[in-house]
Amino acid sequence: MLRFKNLGSGSTGNASIVEAQCGLQTTRILIDCGIGLKELERRLIQAELELSDVDALFITHEHADHVGHTRRVAGFLGIPVWMSQGTWLACDGLDWGFSGSQINVARDTEVFGFGALQITPFTVPHDAREPLQVRLSDGSVSMGLLTDLGHVSAHVVAQLKGCNALLMEANHDTQMLRKSGYPQFLKDRISGPLGHLSNDSACELARTLNHPGLGQVVAAHLSERNNSPEIVLECLSRALGRSADEIWVAAPDTGSDWVSVS
Ligand SMILES: [Zn+2]
Ligand SMILES: [Zn+2]
Repeated sequence: MLRFKNLGSGSTGNASIVEAQCGLQTTRILIDCGIGLKELERRLIQAELELSDVDALFITHEHADHVGHTRRVAGFLGIPVWMSQGTWLACDGLDWGFSGSQINVARDTEVFGFGALQITPFTVPHDAREPLQVRLSDGSVSMGLLTDLGHVSAHVVAQLKGCNALLMEANHDTQMLRKSGYPQFLKDRISGPLGHLSNDSACELARTLNHPGLGQVVAAHLSERNNSPEIVLECLSRALGRSADEIWVAAPDTGSDWVSVS
């Protein structure tokens, strides 16, 4: 059994919990740790979990909204952490005081098992040193988790083909970003090939990954100023050919409900 829940999404802090169950074994991994310890505990309680239920962390890249509280949370819980070597170096992980065995290097397409989970990291085009996103499986079904993507590469599509559920970025509406009061350099960065995924690109990706076995799709990492849940639901429902109430949008401070992957 595989399920996931986004705990918060967007520039204010990202974290998602993914849980796999196999026989008597249950494994939970937190993907990204952009939420502080106390707040993380509060959101886990809302998910009917406790801090001590988190068995490991996977960090996608060194931007503060993803890595921000990793040192404190992993240090407090004493749990293993996976990230790319580039992310580790970019966030000065060597100064974190972790033991060698607590840190694990994740590499593009190198599948690793952790408890009841199988995790496949894959490289994405984004303006970080060595960013990875992930596909997770319990051995029978799989989900893709994809935020902070500058553009849809063939590699990303290949890694996510056949997923049974997706949590994916739909960052901005192109028109809203263009008309926003953001400085030009920031508009260029966000909309550039190593920035964030527009709604149009997210829809194109959703269309490409759509198949009869694709269940729940959760849109995430929405810009609070240059996007709206209504626009995302409308364009994703059109792209996937399903009604808007079959698609979810992760909220910045409350995330999503639990999604069962089947
Ligand atoms: Zn981000
Ligand atoms: Zn980022």
